[in-house]
Amino acid sequence: MTNKDMIKRDLEVLWHPCTQMKDHENIPLVPIKSAKGIYLYDFDGNRYIDAVSSWWVNIFGHANEHIGRRIKEQLDTLEHVILAGFTHEPVVELSHKLKVLTKLDKAFYADNGSSAIEVALKMSFHYHLNKGEHRELFLSLENSYHGETLGALSVGDVALYKETYGPLLIRSIQTPTPKDQSMKEAQKALVALEKILKKHHKELCAMIVEPLVQGAGGMKMYHSHYLKGARELTLKYGVHFIADEIMTGFGRTGSMFACEQADILPDFMTLSKGLTAGYLPLSVVMTTNDVYNAFYCDYSEYKAFLHSHSYTGNPLGCAAALATLELFEKNDVINANKQKSLFMAQQLERFKDLENVKEVRVTGMIAVIELEGYDPKERVGLKIFQAALKKEVLLRPLGSIIYVMPPYVITQEELQKVFDVAYEAIVGL
Ligand SMILES: *Cc1c(COP(=O)(O)O)cnc(C)c1O
Repeated sequence: MTNKDMIKRDLEVLWHPCTQMKDHENIPLVPIKSAKGIYLYDFDGNRYIDAVSSWWVNIFGHANEHIGRRIKEQLDTLEHVILAGFTHEPVVELSHKLKVLTKLDKAFYADNGSSAIEVALKMSFHYHLNKGEHRELFLSLENSYHGETLGALSVGDVALYKETYGPLLIRSIQTPTPKDQSMKEAQKALVALEKILKKHHKELCAMIVEPLVQGAGGMKMYHSHYLKGARELTLKYGVHFIADEIMTGFGRTGSMFACEQADILPDFMTLSKGLTAGYLPLSVVMTTNDVYNAFYCDYSEYKAFLHSHSYTGNPLGCAAALATLELFEKNDVINANKQKSLFMAQQLERFKDLENVKEVRVTGMIAVIELEGYDPKERVGLKIFQAALKKEVLLRPLGSIIYVMPPYVITQEELQKVFDVAYEAIVGL
């Protein structure tokens, strides 16, 4: 098989995610045959640096031997079993580890990020119902992203994904996101938040946020002071706080979880993506004993949380997650990343002098170059994607926002190459 053969066979039958399929009349798909570490290899023998961690999931590189071995061992032991009424070792061990790491008491599993959001929203709504209160409104940040299923889309605020489905969505309102990473903007946004909470707290189930970094909304970053303040305000007004750490969790923002940087404990924390280092689909909602106990009673009171997915707590996924946590335990990942984050910040400096660059920013293992002066119709992100691909780097800008979000196993030399390629692509626009 060559790239060309693969593309032909693909387009006969596949409908790709988040894609206008007609684009592929001109823009070739990239068929990947294998991968190792940070490199992806296509059918014609080209290789590409995976500078977006395969849509933000891959943290320890592809074909990692340790994770692979753990999954294979699990595959020969127990591939799957129903989790209602039954249990298994990987899910029990993983839950204990997550309890220690997140400081939250109970783990409820699903199998992808959006489903974890649905679980958290339903649990929060149902919690208040079990406590005798009917609330049906959610609060989220402007420009937020929490996934594509209808509940998750409802609390998101990216028009490109949401607008079309408006009539199908549940009720949510938005509060301003701090405009930048400064303390001043954090403070301003907290004042706005308190106004909204004061007015709506009796109807609000929960406030949901992406802590410190808003991913799909354009890698917007804000000060931990906002996170801390928002958590305190939700406590003051009796509204749940959901920390959606699906993208930010597992070291991406410079700490194991972004919430640690604000020293807060949410009522719910949703985890996926890096949870299995990008090896298998798995997600989990961590929550408190207070939430758990609101559902805990005799069956005949009908307060149980009757939610499930076929692959809830899949043993292979749990084994991948355990292997991922072992890599964090064995290696000083978070500290090693600090050096890489500093290096990325240094690399961003030279972009500031370019006239079409609006801002550069960095949080942990996410570096951003935001361009300005382009109409969406120009599809500047696509031009950057194509230019970078020619130079063996996979960048996938969000519109005019170019970001580097590499697997943590990338070296300084490889990072250097990624930023060189990004620079050339921008200069060449
Ligand atoms: C990716 C993402 C989701 C959705 O996860 P999926 O597995 O793609 O459904 C939710 N929230 C955030 C912050 C994400 O980045």
